[in-house]
Amino acid sequence: MKYFDHNATTPLDENARHAWLKASSESWANPSSPHRMGAKVRMRLEAVRGEISQALGIEPDELIFCSSATEAINAWVRAYCSQSDPRPLLVSRQEHAAVIESVDAHSQGNVIYFSPHVDDLPKHLEPLIEQHQAGGVMLMAANNETGEIYPWQEVANVCNRKGIPYFCDTTQWIGKMPLGKLNQLASFCGSAHKFGGPKGVGFFKISRRFFEVKLSHGGSQEHGLRAGTEDYPAIAAMAAAFQEYGNVNAETVSEQLKFRDEWMAKLQQKMSDVLLHVTHHQVLWNTVSVAMPEKEAHYWLSKLEKAGFTVGLGAACATGKSGVSHVLNDLGVDDAIIRRTIRISGGVDTTDQDWWDLLDALEKIHTEMISQDSSGSKTEVIRI
Ligand code: PLP
Repeated sequence: MKYFDHNATTPLDENARHAWLKASSESWANPSSPHRMGAKVRMRLEAVRGEISQALGIEPDELIFCSSATEAINAWVRAYCSQSDPRPLLVSRQEHAAVIESVDAHSQGNVIYFSPHVDDLPKHLEPLIEQHQAGGVMLMAANNETGEIYPWQEVANVCNRKGIPYFCDTTQWIGKMPLGKLNQLASFCGSAHKFGGPKGVGFFKISRRFFEVKLSHGGSQEHGLRAGTEDYPAIAAMAAAFQEYGNVNAETVSEQLKFRDEWMAKLQQKMSDVLLHVTHHQVLWNTVSVAMPEKEAHYWLSKLEKAGFTVGLGAACATGKSGVSHVLNDLGVDDAIIRRTIRISGGVDTTDQDWWDLLDALEKIHTEMISQDSSGSKTEVIRI
């Protein structure tokens, strides 16, 4: 099976698997225990924290290990909303459900949603902050559905100038793009399974500048901010995956983007009735969000699966009440078109040939669909 759903999750990297197995058999003691066995695990855990924070360009005490991006996001939103008399939070309408749902749960309506798909978003945001006297901003780095990249660096500058906190969900960025200036962000997060690590482990870069973010109460683990025994084997596996895939160099990205353009041009040439979403803004090199001809996404998914390809659903209703993707909805895409949308997301190990094979499969399914449809309509004519 050729796998094109890396934005959902990635396969476990071999080094990560080895690291997990080794840590599980050799370093299973509780890192908070007062004996030597515990101290050894603590030492290893802190070494891993040092490695990852160094690669991210942040201080080790700014890095909290946690279960996932979702946990980090929820904790940040909860902390923001628990300030005494918080000012309105500005939130992008295209955020992941982890953001939208936790904002809805904690903000008591003290939120202003904005559409990020505009030219020169930072310029657009500055007056919005002033107009609403906003006290914080949430805008992801790259979108999980469309691959759209948002100008997070400039937005971080705007927030710094205004002296307000900015949370950037970098879950889809890490492992696909250069780490670059991520360290200039006050708060961001990652989930290991998006870059070859195991599920259920992630990290949170915290800032103590505006308010304290406490993930859980109990023991004094994770600088006293996230109580609960650390899962060292999972953290060690995440570190191994991060070393392998956490950072991607800019040259690879620009080569892959060129290839993506070529692939999309061929797709449109072979199937002129496809509709590609987000073509003018910057996008992740691995993601193609495309409305397929005539049939709904499930049809294409099951046909592709039979042909040996796994792709994602672009129309899954993660949030909102309309039953279709809130992201595409915000882009002004028609509901009927959203229902025909599939999300194709390759990985660092996906070869050019894999992409061309996928294109051939799509074309074949399309041709069969057209011939079935036309033979179907012929049957109807005969019946009449
Ligand atoms: N944020 C984004 C942009 C995502 O794509 C995802 C997962 O798809 C998440 C947050 C949540 O990640 P997790 O389920 O690992 O907590």
